[in-house]
Amino acid sequence: MSRRDLVLNELGLSPLWVRRDGLQAAASAAAVDRVTEQKEPAPRVELAPPADRAGQIRAMDWAQLESSASACKACVLHKARKQAVLGVGDENAEWLFVGEGPGAEEDERGEPFVGQAGKLLDNMLAAIALQRGKNVYIANIVKCRPPGNRNPEPAEAHACEPYLDRQIELIRPRLIVALGKVAAHNLLGLETTVASLRGRVHRYRGTPLIVTYHPAYLLRNLVDKAKSWEDLCFAVETMTALKQQPQAPT
Ligand code: URA
Ligand code: SF4
Repeated sequence: MSRRDLVLNELGLSPLWVRRDGLQAAASAAAVDRVTEQKEPAPRVELAPPADRAGQIRAMDWAQLESSASACKACVLHKARKQAVLGVGDENAEWLFVGEGPGAEEDERGEPFVGQAGKLLDNMLAAIALQRGKNVYIANIVKCRPPGNRNPEPAEAHACEPYLDRQIELIRPRLIVALGKVAAHNLLGLETTVASLRGRVHRYRGTPLIVTYHPAYLLRNLVDKAKSWEDLCFAVETMTALKQQPQAPT
């Protein structure tokens, strides 16, 4: 099928993009302290000053990132979360998709993009022969759910940035796809529309990045699905070109 036919197909909401329906801490027994003599005072737990926090996160492995994010209180989003949602997928992926932040279902299940928007994202991936978890990693700008699904504030995105940066360092994706305005604005430091950012290769800390619409936006604006299909084709072309270049050594 030609690319034009594919686009027309997508415009007609081909089956690929149809919404699918139906959608140890074993409490260690506190040791009974029978010692009667005076005990040493408990060592004071020093909280890392904010300047060091980013540096500490930069040195973490995956397990440390998971536990650090789930205990993180660096922004107010920790207050209402059920759990932090670090990301999901192939830790050696060539593709990194970045959304905005967890919604209600993601907060519940601990995995990004598992609600309606996630189903559309899975179908978008399938349209370019990709699959969640296989050569694809999915993350968000903020790891904790903004209450009422509001957009994350710049300060919250800034506080959370070291996690995404470390994820990118560990994954070393060839290409980042920013899903929607919030991801694009935070990664590019620009406040322009998705419409004006798409169709070009940008960079985030050296990694090539392209911008497309957020799947939740596409669910409300079906006409832009054709544009997002063009973006996906552009992403595939960009990836093909990038694969012909040697990747920078670590
Ligand atoms: N929207 C996002 O941006 N991220 C998710 O994980 C889910 C919905
Ligand atoms: Fe920490 Fe990020 Fe959650 Fe804020 S959103 S509490 S910075 S993990």
